[in-house]
Amino acid sequence: MVTNNDIGEANYDSSFTKRPNSNNANWSLNTEGSHPYRVLPPFGSLASSGQWAKYERLHWGFYASNKKQRPFRCVRRIDSKTKTVIQECPQCLVIDARFEEGRNYRETLIHQKKSQDEIKLLMEKYSTWNRRFNTEKRYFMNVLRPDGQIGRLKISKEAFMDLRAEVDKLRRSLEHTNPVGRDDGVWFDFHRTGMHIDDTKVKVTPVYETVNMNGRPAKVLKDGKLTPEIMERMKTEMFDLGVYYRDLSRDEIQRLADAPDDSEVVDSIFGAPVTPAPSDPNVNEFKEMAAENESEVETIDPNSDEELALVAKLEELRRIKKDVKSTVDPKVFFEHYKANK
Ligand SMILES: [Zn+2]
Repeated sequence: MVTNNDIGEANYDSSFTKRPNSNNANWSLNTEGSHPYRVLPPFGSLASSGQWAKYERLHWGFYASNKKQRPFRCVRRIDSKTKTVIQECPQCLVIDARFEEGRNYRETLIHQKKSQDEIKLLMEKYSTWNRRFNTEKRYFMNVLRPDGQIGRLKISKEAFMDLRAEVDKLRRSLEHTNPVGRDDGVWFDFHRTGMHIDDTKVKVTPVYETVNMNGRPAKVLKDGKLTPEIMERMKTEMFDLGVYYRDLSRDEIQRLADAPDDSEVVDSIFGAPVTPAPSDPNVNEFKEMAAENESEVETIDPNSDEELALVAKLEELRRIKKDVKSTVDPKVFFEHYKANK
């Protein structure tokens, strides 16, 4: 049972350090232009610490037997002062070695005076591998959209730093002391320009609106007040960011790194998948699909009232259609016409 106490207050003093309960909306800034969001307060396992955004370094590229990816958290730790690795991550070592190999190969090709097009073609196996075994570094937050939907927003480190700066600016200016707060948060616009890695920029600004104040127009921060209805929905629709992705042991990561194409190893570490592979002829486990975290597919419980009502309606439509069809059957119509002539 989730209570009000599971929705925490933002703590601006703690530096962010760092679990799944939802298959709701996942959003990113995937188009150019404005993306206004109301960042929501910390939730679930992060409520008590006040952490309202979660930074993740995720390893991708490992497939369960149902062909779904199983991402996990990178365990490489680096001393920020000395820039030395204090804890190693087996998958990072594989990626580093592959990167080095690719770089050497490219140099050899350049040395052999290959053309740019030839190099691109010959390097394709490396770029394909890199895309599959991508290490994703992103900040995740629970947000409210202007259309009232609650979901999980994923942004780059740069965009998060910009948001953080705007949050701090508002707090310093005393214009708004609790921009991500439960009771009186504000809206931020994440404005994206550019669609490529090298030209993408996100500028975060608080959203203002013009209101009538004693007969005169006044520019004020757009009200991010969370209504009791939204607060109630937050309890079931927000993501528990602290536990969303899996923490694996170094031994487990080593086993994956040693056998990247073996889905049996993936299943043995992550647990047998509850959803079947898309090619599986027995794909009929709606309930189990809904239970899986990574699923972003909307599912209908075949025994729900909604589904039963739909089935009843469909039967009704079929019956009517059958009746209509029989009345317009030309033969019947002709017999009818003849008899009544
Ligand atoms: Zn790693």
